Amino acid sequence: MRVLGIEGTAWAASASVFETDDPAVVASDDHVFIETDAYQPDSGGIHPREAAEHMGEAIPQVVGTALSHARERADAAGETGPPVDAVAFSRGPGLGPCLRIVATAARAVAQRLDVPLVGVNHMVAHLEVGRYRSGFDSPVCLNASGANAHVLGYRNGRYRVLGETMDTGVGNAIDKFTRHVGWQHPGGPKVERRAREGEYHPLPYVVKGMDFSFSGIMSAAKQAVDDDTPVENVCRGMEETIFAMLTEVAERALSLTGADELVLGGGVGQNERLQGMLREMCEQRGADFYAPEDRFLRDNAGMIAMLGARMVAAGDTLAIEESGIDSNFRPDEVPVTWRADEAV
Ligand code: ATP
Repeated sequence: MRVLGIEGTAWAASASVFETDDPAVVASDDHVFIETDAYQPDSGGIHPREAAEHMGEAIPQVVGTALSHARERADAAGETGPPVDAVAFSRGPGLGPCLRIVATAARAVAQRLDVPLVGVNHMVAHLEVGRYRSGFDSPVCLNASGANAHVLGYRNGRYRVLGETMDTGVGNAIDKFTRHVGWQHPGGPKVERRAREGEYHPLPYVVKGMDFSFSGIMSAAKQAVDDDTPVENVCRGMEETIFAMLTEVAERALSLTGADELVLGGGVGQNERLQGMLREMCEQRGADFYAPEDRFLRDNAGMIAMLGARMVAAGDTLAIEESGIDSNFRPDEVPVTWRADEAV
C-alpha cells in the first residue's frame, strides 16, 4: 500500500509518501518520503493569516513533489494505476484557515485519482508515529508540541486524555517567552542552547492532579529577565521546571495505567534535556522509553501518511461530503478503528 499524507495544521506545509506491505506490521524497510516547506515569521510568532498564505503557496509544490516521487515508485514497480492508494490529511486540531487549504488539496487529489480520502487527527498521529516506530504495544504517550500538551493512554477503543494543559500549549509558552526576549521564532531550540550555559533559576511549578499549567511560568520567566536575571539562567529554569512537570505527569500516568512503555511526540520532544529526563524516569521504574527521530517529532506529513495507511486498512475512510475540518479536534473524539481487534 502506498499512501499520500498531507499535513498543514500551522507552520509545516508537508506532504509524504508512505509505502508498506502491511500497515499493521513494523518493518525495517518501511519507505517514508517527506517534503516540507516551513513557514518562518519575519517577526513575532505564527500569524494565522500569514501562515495560511504560506500554506496556500507551499501545498501545491510539496504535494506535487510527493506525487512525482510516488509515480516513480509506481513506475519502478511496473504499476499502471494511480500512484497512491489513498490520500490522508490532517483534519485538526490546528489553525482553521490552514486546515481548510490542506483539506481542499486532499479532496482534489483523492477525487482526481479516484482513491479513498482519510481524515487524520494530528495529535493521534503524533502518538501513533511513536508507537509505530517503537513497535510498542500499548504505550502511554506524552505529546509535547507547540499548541498542545497531552498525556494519552488507550482504553476501550479511544485514546483517553489522562492529563493536559489547562492553558497554553507547552511550546507556545516557550515561544512567547523568547519573543519577549527578542529572539526569532521558534524559541525552543534557542532556549535549549542557552540553558546549557545557565544556572537554575526557580519558576512556578504547576501540576494539578494530571494536568499542568504553563502560563504562570511564562509570565514569571518574562518578569525574571526584566528584573535582570541572566537570560541563560531563566532558560535553564524554564527547561528544568517545565520538563519536570511533564515527567511527573508522565510517570503518574504510567503508574495509574500500569503501562510499562512511554512514547514521546511533538516538536518540544526534540529537546535533549526533556528526552533525558523521561528516559531516566523510565529506567528507574523499569519502563521502556521511545522518542522518534526529530523529523517525526515536529509537525510532518510522514505521521499523517503512516496513520492514514492503518486507517485505510481498517476501512476508516471519509466521504467527500463528510470531510470537513475540525480546528478543535480532540484526540479522545477519534474512534480508534485500527486497533479494534484489541481487548482493551
Ligand atoms: P501542534 O502539534 O500542537 O499543532 P505545532 O504546530 O506548534 O504543534 P510542533 O512542530 O509540534 O508544531 O512544535 C513546534 C514547537 O516545538 C515550537 O513551539 C518550538 O519552539 C518547539 N521546539 C522545537 N525545537 C525545540 C527544542 N529543541 N526544545 C524545545 N522546544 C522546541
